[in-house]
Amino acid sequence: MTAEDSPPAPARPWFASFTVRLSFLFGILIAILALIGVRVWQTSDHFVVDNDWVEHTLKVENQAQMVLARLGSSQAAAVAYAVSGAPARLIEFNQEAPKLDEDLRVLANLVADNPEQGVHAHQLAALVLARRDLLANAVALRQQSHALPPLPEIGTDDIRAVVAATLAAEDKLLVLRHAEAAHTISLTRSLTTAAVLTSAIFLAFTFWLTRRNYAYQKRNQQKLTDSHRQAHDALLETRRLSDSMQRLAQFGELLQSCRTMDEVRDGVPIALGGLLPEVAGRLALLNASQNLLAIGAHWGQHGIIAESVFAPEDCWALRRGQTYPLAGADGAFVCKHVHWPNPDMPDARYLCVPLAAQGEMIGVVTFDAVRPLDATERRLATAASEQLALALANLRLQDTLRTQSIRDPLTGLFNRRYLEVSLERELVRAGRRSLPLAVLMLDLDHFKRFNDTYGHDAGDALLVQFAEVLKRCTRSEDIACRYGGEEFTVILLESDVETACKRAEQIRAATAEMAVEHRKQKLGRVSVSIGVAMFPADGQVSADLQRRADSALYQAKKTGRDRVVTADATVIDY
Ligand code: GH3
Ligand code: MG
Ligand code: MG
Repeated sequence: MTAEDSPPAPARPWFASFTVRLSFLFGILIAILALIGVRVWQTSDHFVVDNDWVEHTLKVENQAQMVLARLGSSQAAAVAYAVSGAPARLIEFNQEAPKLDEDLRVLANLVADNPEQGVHAHQLAALVLARRDLLANAVALRQQSHALPPLPEIGTDDIRAVVAATLAAEDKLLVLRHAEAAHTISLTRSLTTAAVLTSAIFLAFTFWLTRRNYAYQKRNQQKLTDSHRQAHDALLETRRLSDSMQRLAQFGELLQSCRTMDEVRDGVPIALGGLLPEVAGRLALLNASQNLLAIGAHWGQHGIIAESVFAPEDCWALRRGQTYPLAGADGAFVCKHVHWPNPDMPDARYLCVPLAAQGEMIGVVTFDAVRPLDATERRLATAASEQLALALANLRLQDTLRTQSIRDPLTGLFNRRYLEVSLERELVRAGRRSLPLAVLMLDLDHFKRFNDTYGHDAGDALLVQFAEVLKRCTRSEDIACRYGGEEFTVILLESDVETACKRAEQIRAATAEMAVEHRKQKLGRVSVSIGVAMFPADGQVSADLQRRADSALYQAKKTGRDRVVTADATVIDY
C-alpha cells in the first residue's frame, strides 16, 4: 500500500494538544483559587467585624460599670463632704459629678444601634442624673448651712438593676457574636483546606499529565531514532547489496568465459570468497552415472565438517530440488553429508544450494560459516549458485557439442575428421621424438551380404559390437575411428610393426569369435580384413600412410579376407 492509498490520519481534536490541556487545567485552577481567595478575604473581613462587635460589647459593659463606679465615687465624695465639711471632698465631688454626663453620653452612643440597650441607657441616665441631682442638693445645703444636711437615700439597687440588665443583654449579644466568630473561623478553615486540597489535586494531576506527556515525547523520540537507524541500516544494506550485485555480475561473466571445468574449479573459490567474505563453501559435482557427488573445490574458514564423497540421497537440497535448510529454520533433518551441529562451533550453520540447469541436476554448493547466514548472504549464495549452475550446464553442453563434432554417433568412436587432424598431429609428435606409429585400416568382410541377410538394423548392431572390440583391443592413448560405412582406422602410437601386427591380429581374432546378437537372435559369424602401414617406413605423411594401409587392406581382401596384411604385402599368418 502506498502513502497515497493509506487513509488520511484522523484530525486530532483541539483539546488533544498537551499545551491546550495544561493551559485549560491551569485556567480552572486559577479560577478556583481566585474564588477561594475572595471567599477567604470575605470571611476574614467578617472575622474582623465579629471581633469588633465582641470588643464593642466589652466597651459597653465597661462603660456601664464606669457610670456605676463614677456615681459611687461622686456619692462617696458628697457624703464625706456633708459629714466633714472638708473642702477637698467638695472639690472631689465637683470634679466627679459632671463627668457622669459624659459617661452617660458615651454609653448612649455605644448602644445607639441597639434599641433594647438604648432603653436601658436612657433609664440608667434618668436614674443616675436624678441621683446626682439629689447629691448636688445635699452638697449645696451643706455649703449654705454649714450643718449636716439630710442625706438622700443612698441605695443604688435600681441603678444596679438597670446596669445588670444592660450587662445581661450585652452578654447575650456576646455569646451570639462569639458563635458567629467561631462559625467564621470554621468557614475560613474549611475554605483554606479546600483551597490547599484543590491545589494539591490539580498540581498532582498536572504532574501526572506532564509526566505522561514527557513519556509520550520520549517514546516518539525513540521511534524517530529507531526509524532513523533503520533508514541508515537500510541504506548501508542497499549499498552492500548493490556492491554484491556488481560482484555477482562479474562472477557470472567470469564463469561464462570459463572453457574447462578446471577453470571453474580454480575460479569459484576466489570469486565466491570475495562475494561472501565470511562464508566458506564446498562445490560438489555429480559424476556421470549420477550416483555420487565429489567435492571439486572448497574455500573459506569452515564451521562445518563435511564428507568429500557422498550419495545424492544424503543431501536434502538435492532430494527436494531447493535450498536447504529453509530461511529461519535450523533444519530438523540434517543432511547426512555434513556433520552438524559441530560441538566445537555451536553457532556454525550450513546452507545447501542445489545446482540444476535445464532440469538436470549437476551438483550442490554447501555454504557454511561460524555463525548463521543473514538474509542477504542467503540471497547472494543462492544467486551465485544459480550462475554457477548455468555456467556448468554451458560447459557440459560445450563438451557434448565437442564430443558430437569428433565422435561417430553410432559407435562412439572418433570420426574421420578427427582422424585426419589427430593423425597429422601424432605424426609430427612421433617424428620429433623418433618414435614409430602404425596405421591400421579395417574393413568388415561381406558386410553388404550381412546387411542383406539380417537387415540394416542388424548391420548397425554389428558395427556397434565391432567398435567395442576395437575399444577393448586398443590402449586409451590409441585412436580408434570409424572411417565410414563398415571401414575403420586405428592409430597405434609408439608401436613398431610387430606390435601393430600383433594388435591387428588380436582384433581379427576377436572379431572372428564375436557372437553377434540382434533382438535376442544369434546372427552369423563375421570377419574383418586389416591393412597395416608403418611410420616412418611406409610413409612420412598422413595421405601416404593411409594409402599404403588401404593398399594392404585391398591385398587382404584379394588374398581371401579375414586376415592382416602389412604395407610391404606381408600377410601375417599366426
Ligand atoms: P567386402 O567384403 O569386399 O568388403 O564386401 P562388402 O559387402 O563388405 O563391401 P561393400 O562395399 O560392397 O558393401 C558395404 C556395405 O555397407 C554397403 C552399405 O549398404 C553398407 N553400409 C554402409 N554404411 C552402413 C551403415 O552405417 N549401416 C549399415 N547397416 N550398413 C552400412
Ligand atoms: Mg567397404
Ligand atoms: Mg566390406
